[in-house]
Amino acid sequence: MPLLVMKFGGTSVADLDRIRNAAGKVRREVERGYDVIVIVSAMSGKTNELVGWVEQTSPMFDAREYDAVVSSGENVTAGLMALTLQEMDVPARSWQGWQVPLKTTSAHSAARIEEIPRANIDAKFAEGMRVAVVAGFQGISPEGRITTLGRGGSDTTAVAFAAAFGAERCDIYTDVDGVYTTDPRIEDKARKLDKIAFEEMLELASLGAKVLQTRSVELAMRYKVRLRVLSSFEENTENSGTLVCDEEDIMEKNVVSGVAYVRDEAKMTLISVADRPGIAAAIFGPLSDAGVNVDMIVQNISEEGRTDMTFSCPVNQVARAEKAMQDAKEKGEINFHDLVADTDVAKVSVVGIGMRSHAGVASQMFKALSSEGINIKVITTSEIKISVLIDRKYMELAVQALHDAFGLDKAA
Ligand code: ASP
Ligand code: MG
Repeated sequence: MPLLVMKFGGTSVADLDRIRNAAGKVRREVERGYDVIVIVSAMSGKTNELVGWVEQTSPMFDAREYDAVVSSGENVTAGLMALTLQEMDVPARSWQGWQVPLKTTSAHSAARIEEIPRANIDAKFAEGMRVAVVAGFQGISPEGRITTLGRGGSDTTAVAFAAAFGAERCDIYTDVDGVYTTDPRIEDKARKLDKIAFEEMLELASLGAKVLQTRSVELAMRYKVRLRVLSSFEENTENSGTLVCDEEDIMEKNVVSGVAYVRDEAKMTLISVADRPGIAAAIFGPLSDAGVNVDMIVQNISEEGRTDMTFSCPVNQVARAEKAMQDAKEKGEINFHDLVADTDVAKVSVVGIGMRSHAGVASQMFKALSSEGINIKVITTSEIKISVLIDRKYMELAVQALHDAFGLDKAA
């Protein structure tokens, strides 16, 4: 029988009524002739509550016990979903990660999926089970301990199951009806995209459009899983939501597909560091060891053997970055005159695979920003993305101006 994976996020299973609503969507697919693997998140807010309990109990917690506690929200919704389906006369049963078994690395709280053997679930499908409800977000380590995949990890569970079972599609049910050209709370002309390419979704996901966990998109791209994002609060048809797919499957494309932003960035500049071989390694090694997620990096032209080095990172990592740099200076690994932090910046990016074949996107972007009087502090580019750092107070204005400049309110 053809197989679908359907994933329901926390708001889609937030209470018994919503679980019933989600189960109704599953039943419809079963009636259409699909076997279904349902992946559930915990009820919304539950995982945060569990994390809070762990932290209150043990500030320096044992990561294995953190996973034991934090994974439990999904066990509840998996069992309730199976019961709800049974009440609808759909043959269903629940599976916790270890029962599948979904095998992961032992990196607790950030484990990676290694293997999903099909035999157990396939055997039950062969016996007439029509729906396997699997607890998302969790697995089992080689040591036999419960692991979790990182926050938002149920998306990754869903895509991994779709790949392992050769599903026709992986439908991600959530509280929005798809992926938008930008955040509709900032730009009311934001438009839902019918299709978006994996590469673009990856850029948008990691740039702060929080619809899908980044790793789930990486996985979908690697295994060519057709991924659809759609609302669990609407009647859906074949064409609902946004399909995340191979770029060959998209005929009509705008050059730019979306505008993304990250609100809480900081720009840090090391003034006058020695410009010598190894200096970048001496700076960014300690930053990475300190767990600072460096994003953009700009090295200025050097004068008389010295240069300024600018990088960006999340605002809440500024103190950590400063400490790492001061420590490295004290150890004599680097030398700089001053470290200047600007904590009032935001990053705004335009993304589109059309940039590969169209020149002039950058200049169009800079013109749009300048006509609003917005100063650009740092620019970086990749094959399908241009990002700028600007003053945070202009972030909304910049998003709106770029959305307008690239005509994103109109379909290609
Ligand atoms: N419940 C987990 C979380 O809140 C996993 C998920 O929902 O994707 O992060
Ligand atoms: Mg999520």
